[in-house]
Amino acid sequence: MVSIDEMAVFCKKKGIVFLNSDIYGGISGFWDFGPLGVELKNNIKKELWKRFVQQRADVVGIDGATITNKKVWEASGHVSSFSDILMECKKCKKKHRGDTLVEDTTGKNVDGSTKDEILSLIKKHKIKCPDCGSELKTGKSFNLMFSTNVGAVEDDANKTYLRPETAQVIFTNFKSVQETSRLKLPFGIAQIGKAYRNEISPRDFLFRSREFEQFEIEYFTDPEKTKCVFLKEVKNMKVNILNSKDKFSVETIDGLIKNNTFKNEWHAYWNAIFYKWFLDFGIKKENIRLREHTKKELAHYASACFDIEYKFPFGWKEIHGNADRGTFDLDQHIKYSKKELTYFDEETKRKIVPYVSSEPSQGIERALLAFLFDAYNDDKKRGNVMLKLHPKLAPIKGAIFPLVRNKKALVNLAKEVYDELKMMFNCVYDSGGSIGRRYARADEMGIPYCITIDFDSIKKKDVTIRDRDTTKQVRVKIKHLKSNLEKFI
Ligand code: ATP
Repeated sequence: MVSIDEMAVFCKKKGIVFLNSDIYGGISGFWDFGPLGVELKNNIKKELWKRFVQQRADVVGIDGATITNKKVWEASGHVSSFSDILMECKKCKKKHRGDTLVEDTTGKNVDGSTKDEILSLIKKHKIKCPDCGSELKTGKSFNLMFSTNVGAVEDDANKTYLRPETAQVIFTNFKSVQETSRLKLPFGIAQIGKAYRNEISPRDFLFRSREFEQFEIEYFTDPEKTKCVFLKEVKNMKVNILNSKDKFSVETIDGLIKNNTFKNEWHAYWNAIFYKWFLDFGIKKENIRLREHTKKELAHYASACFDIEYKFPFGWKEIHGNADRGTFDLDQHIKYSKKELTYFDEETKRKIVPYVSSEPSQGIERALLAFLFDAYNDDKKRGNVMLKLHPKLAPIKGAIFPLVRNKKALVNLAKEVYDELKMMFNCVYDSGGSIGRRYARADEMGIPYCITIDFDSIKKKDVTIRDRDTTKQVRVKIKHLKSNLEKFI
């Protein structure tokens, strides 16, 4: 596996990701997506949206603003407690996150530890500045929200924050969405959008950045109806899991419900279908696992939380989080807004505060990174990198090559094929260099199908399709090309 720095270099070279404002020396934690990156990112979002929103009768989507009334963040608890412990080096002045320093030194997860606990671990392990080895200053809490001012007057009344997560805008819209879409429990509201966190030390390329995108769903259930009606779809599915006692095993979802690891069937179901989504789009099963949060790690509002982790070259890391949040958020917004964010159950004539039994929270960039690492193959036999992305995620689906570029009839036919295909698939036309060089270039861009127009094509009206992964070629009639590609993709 390549290192994270090598991946960043590869992404820059291929036009996947660039450092934001690079010509001015960049800005830490901000990245721009290039021509291939934007396609890959959009495909990931499209596939998430398709599977978890459009193809479900019980989930609808919204697209909220990234700046909200600051009361949203007071109610959610972010103003008072969305913070990390900031440690500053006495000599080089570099800033570090207290919990990350402890985790890097001890290898132990310390999520959920108090500030005093982190500080005493730093003292106990005599942790110094990782950059210059000097003493660190006593840490203080640092709120991770970016604050901003709305309007011309810069005062406290106009102060607010860029959203650090997409979830809260779902809660504030809960009633309007439920009523306008006439949703009946159980149902989910989904959103994809930007989130901003002023991370103390952004690192590991896209993994920890200050601006990123999230796909979040709040799945609302009736607190008295705990049976998941879709459970049979995932009951027998096997998952890798590291439980809260640090024990690794392979279990079925049903087994995890029966042994009480999952206390809520809905929570089990949503964890399972996201885990499956990663497998379906190509993540190797040995590179993914669920991790159960320990009691101590759990946020005060969550009664259970599981992460989906991916085995990055820098260790197993969270790419997805899913908490059982109960009624915490709606209760808080009811309290702070004094609005009735309840649901009326026609059948039982009960007015209830719906229970969020599952909050799948998917970082788009972390998913993208996991897909890139899994797809990256330095193919020694071919002599080039081959990006084995799932065809649905691949930024470009087909490359159209005229065998040679100095034969007019060949070039014309190749351009005709390209003009037709590009209306259906994202394709490129490439006539530069030898066919071998063009295949290599396509492999590195993850293009699953290369279509070559040769001399026979003119007479027989057919082309060859070369499969990226097997390098096998099939000959198909031009009139069947679209349907063939459709079938493959
Ligand atoms: P971490 O412990 O790594 O800081 P978190 O537990 O704070 O993550 P959540 O608040 O659960 O993360 O956010 C949900 C998802 O959003 C994460 O699983 C991740 O995919 C994404 N995410 C969170 N913070 C960042 C970040 N700084 N950069 C990129 N993606 C992020």
